[in-house]
Amino acid sequence: MEINSYETLFEKFPNLYNKNPKKGLWGFECNLGWFELIEELSKELDEYCKKEKIKINPRQVKTKFAGLRFYYDLENNTPEEKRKGIEEIIKKYEQQSEQTCETCGKHGKKISKNNWLIVACEEHSK
Ligand SMILES: [Zn+2]
Repeated sequence: MEINSYETLFEKFPNLYNKNPKKGLWGFECNLGWFELIEELSKELDEYCKKEKIKINPRQVKTKFAGLRFYYDLENNTPEEKRKGIEEIIKKYEQQSEQTCETCGKHGKKISKNNWLIVACEEHSK
């Protein structure tokens, strides 16, 4: 898989991601092992926002403390229950990321490598 694979998500989910860094998301800062996870998350969010007529503005997708983080803005008038709906979708994938090797996508766990906390499968723990 190409290193710029995350770029394909801009084309795949144009309603979700705005590639203009001033207005939208300025990039995906995760290794490619999480690609499928983030693709699934994008799909579910995209569908939810269309169904509920919510305007979401993803700002940053990154790895923090060996877990996926998805930062976004919502319009001020977004109802509370729809905010919760979004939070729940994202939380589900953030939890999955903690058991998904960030290098290859296989089942993994949190380990410390070179003083760095990462999620890795057995092979990538070495
Ligand atoms: Zn791995």
